[in-house]
Amino acid sequence: MVSRFRRFRSALGALAAALLLPAVALAQGKGKVEVTWYGHAAFGVKTPGGTVILIDPWLSNPKAPEKGLADSIPKVDFILISHGHFDHVGDAVAIAKRTGAKLITNFELGAALVAAGYPKENAGLDTVGNMGGAIQAGDATVIMVPAVHSSGFGDSEGHNVVGGNPMGFVIQVKNGPTLYHTGDTDVTQDMKLIPERYGAVDMMMACIGGHFTMDPKGAALAARMVRAKTVIPMHFGTFPVLNGTPDELRAALKGKAKVDVLVPGKPAMF
Ligand SMILES: [Zn+2]
Repeated sequence: MVSRFRRFRSALGALAAALLLPAVALAQGKGKVEVTWYGHAAFGVKTPGGTVILIDPWLSNPKAPEKGLADSIPKVDFILISHGHFDHVGDAVAIAKRTGAKLITNFELGAALVAAGYPKENAGLDTVGNMGGAIQAGDATVIMVPAVHSSGFGDSEGHNVVGGNPMGFVIQVKNGPTLYHTGDTDVTQDMKLIPERYGAVDMMMACIGGHFTMDPKGAALAARMVRAKTVIPMHFGTFPVLNGTPDELRAALKGKAKVDVLVPGKPAMF
């Protein structure tokens, strides 16, 4: 009799928990990602499931928060590279050799990086793809989207080798936000398709420096096209010619999106 009552009580408890849990999850909202800017176009993203993604890992750039980061960054699961230029490929090969991070980039740049020493077993067809491809990266899905730029890769002998086409990345985090790293690009009509296909962008990492990419006015237009809620400016101030500023971005956005200027090395939650 007692044990039957206990069984009834524990079944009742399980039912209450099952009913309550979705309500609790709803009240807590979506999970958050931890985003760290390493200067220039380099970012680290840590998902609620613990997946660590590095984007355009030039960790030895002049605005990097500390020296030797490429040798000390502890865990990296995936490295995303938008195009072949040195300020985006950065320290990818050294980081991949040490951490075993898998490479997500276009086919030609993938081959060029393997020739430059990126571990072949971590740059296979499970992660190397091309525009429109959606790659599973732990609890995130990384979608390669077009960027308007160039993508030559300078090899160790100083030759400019084929690096495929430049791209940006939409990162859909399971139970979390949708991020968009523009790569190097001008604003394009294609950006209008991003929210149509993948939903509004919660946080956009946008190049604003001008000269090689869109300037703050272009980035503001791009942010409105992708319906970004928050814009993190990048690819400005590293060199004198990249002279677009976050203040100019803020002025051009006229309050249509929040501008968050990250401090290199200091993680922020989104
Ligand atoms: Zn660049």
